[in-house]
Amino acid sequence: MKYAVLGDIHANLEALTAVLEEAERLEVGRFLCIGDIVGYNANPRECLEAVRGLDLEVVTKGNHDEQASSDMELVGFNPQAARAIEWTREQLTDEDRVWLAGLPYRQTIGSRITVVHATLDMPHMWGYVFDKFSAEVSLGYQFTQICFFGHTHVPLAFVKHGMVTGGRYEEVRIQPNHKYLINVGSVGQPRDGDPRASFVTYSPDDRLVQLHRVDYDVATAQGKITKAGLPERLAQRLAYGR
Ligand code: ZN
Repeated sequence: MKYAVLGDIHANLEALTAVLEEAERLEVGRFLCIGDIVGYNANPRECLEAVRGLDLEVVTKGNHDEQASSDMELVGFNPQAARAIEWTREQLTDEDRVWLAGLPYRQTIGSRITVVHATLDMPHMWGYVFDKFSAEVSLGYQFTQICFFGHTHVPLAFVKHGMVTGGRYEEVRIQPNHKYLINVGSVGQPRDGDPRASFVTYSPDDRLVQLHRVDYDVATAQGKITKAGLPERLAQRLAYGR
């Protein structure tokens, strides 16, 4: 059985559709979702419907999911993100909001895998893991061999075997007595300079995690952002992967 791990979809239906087609081609059986299904882009309801229709093992809550499903004052968001959250609140139905608000911050699958949006030390505080120092803090609260996470929109893998090391990856072979904290990148708003949608597959039988990048119809996603009256910067950044 092969899993696909998807995160930071951010209402980008063109990217999500391309990723799901690739997952089918790769014969993925089940899905894990690390959250931020909505926010930034123009198809929150369609992306929610697509995710809820998947054979989902687990799904956790992201910061945009939390804000879009509440009436909380927007703190800690840049003006474009805040505008997109306000717009998203107007799009979602009460049922969507209840579903998003009910998502857990972290989920564990058996004894091997944990899924979280941001960090394991304080999942509700939305910290960023960009380096081995912040990775080490999160790894201190990780009681499974592998944790998949997102939030930075940059795919990086950290390994703890005595010391913590980390960096860019294309695949990770899971070794005994090592612990892994793996950022799956972003489906809907990549920020590592590569505009292609990002996700990973995990095959427990082969003990192999693989990163996948998928081309999608960026122009259509951008056109929808403009038409919705969302900030133009949100459309532009999709072309650069920033
Ligand atoms: Zn995000």
